[in-house]
Amino acid sequence: MAGWRKEIGTALLLLSAALLAGTTVGHTTYWLLLVSVYFLLNQIVHINRFERWIALGGKRQYPKASGIWEDIYYHVYRIKKNEKRRNRKLSKMVDQFRKSTEALPDAAIVLNTDDQIEWSNKAANSVFGLKPSDRGQRIPNLIRFPEFINYLKAGNYKEAVILPSPMDSRVTLAVRIVSYSSGLRLLLAQDVTELKKMERMRKDFVANVSHELRTPLTVLKGYLETLQDMDDGSSSLLSQSVQQMKDQTERMQHLVDDLLLLARLETQKKTIQCIDVPALLSQICKEGDALENASRRIELTLEADTHILGEVQELRSAFTNLLGNALKYSPEDSVVKVRWHRTHEAVVLDVEDSGEGIALADIPRVTERFYRAEVKRNKKIQGTGLGLAIVKHVLMRHDAKLGIVSKVGKGSRFSCYFPVSRICN
Ligand code: ADP
Repeated sequence: MAGWRKEIGTALLLLSAALLAGTTVGHTTYWLLLVSVYFLLNQIVHINRFERWIALGGKRQYPKASGIWEDIYYHVYRIKKNEKRRNRKLSKMVDQFRKSTEALPDAAIVLNTDDQIEWSNKAANSVFGLKPSDRGQRIPNLIRFPEFINYLKAGNYKEAVILPSPMDSRVTLAVRIVSYSSGLRLLLAQDVTELKKMERMRKDFVANVSHELRTPLTVLKGYLETLQDMDDGSSSLLSQSVQQMKDQTERMQHLVDDLLLLARLETQKKTIQCIDVPALLSQICKEGDALENASRRIELTLEADTHILGEVQELRSAFTNLLGNALKYSPEDSVVKVRWHRTHEAVVLDVEDSGEGIALADIPRVTERFYRAEVKRNKKIQGTGLGLAIVKHVLMRHDAKLGIVSKVGKGSRFSCYFPVSRICN
């Protein structure tokens, strides 16, 4: 403001001087014109000086000026200085961030919307064998595993994809993509070799133990049956003990069978064929009827003659488990409904009972291994707690989902949703 006042003061002073000169020596217009030209030229000189200073980045101390030009120089100089300070701070932060990501043990790559590499850290370079010249290259050209390319294309980055390192096949990587601002994505790869090794050891251990337990259990069961045959009923304690031993041996046999099935589901390769699900369901329901000795309990409705691609033994065991549970956890005289139908997005199997139901808090947990909901019942219901874990695993291998709707005392509905992409007839 002071600059403006000084500028206006100077202009008024020059005008007054021109007017004074005009009235004393005449030619007022010339004097006024002279003063205006001087004023204009002075401004042009200032503008020129300012342009030269700003063209050089406005970094150096600004030239000496007075009036409004001093204010302009001062303000621009101050803005430039602040900007410089901010830039210095920002580049320090970027430097620190770069150093910390370089020190990360996990590989990190920034991808743009065209899947091109924008930036990668040291770990990414050694894990994926990237070179500085790979910047700007498309990642599918460098990491060529089909699982990875499908994962990248699908755009569903909720879970990680497991890959061997392209540099060393003994190293297993869990690769995850995280989307952030305007199409940029961060690819993170973590070395999970040890974790996967331990997981494999656990699976192998469970599978081996289960396998080894099979023979002794069969022998035990055989002897117990012989003992039962030989029992003349003279000692009720002996009869009861043998019966209990036989029940427990059978229970252990179920447990071992379920554990072996789960181990197979985790390790075996899928052999896919087109399955006539209505025929499979009819057979399973018939077997269920025979098992239950109450042919009116199972009501099968086949609303769609849809066949799906899958593994028949796996689906058989999943469906049998669902039907078995519905029969087990509902009164003997109640109806169990089995329905095969189609919606827009899926082909669905519903298994519905009007039994004891499942408490809301238990629903998310019933598919966990060995989880059995605690329910007060008159009669103990035998089970391994592995049935629904098997169902979940089988459905996962068929890209299907399990839905559970249940109300305590009213009943439950278990629904298997198969994607329409699996339809094969
Ligand atoms: P299991 O039946 O051998 O105990 P599952 O894994 O098949 O093991 O089921 C886990 C638990 O889920 C069961 O113990 C039971 O509490 C509950 N559950 C499963 N199906 C039903 C059902 N249809 N009605 C009520 N509860 C059920």
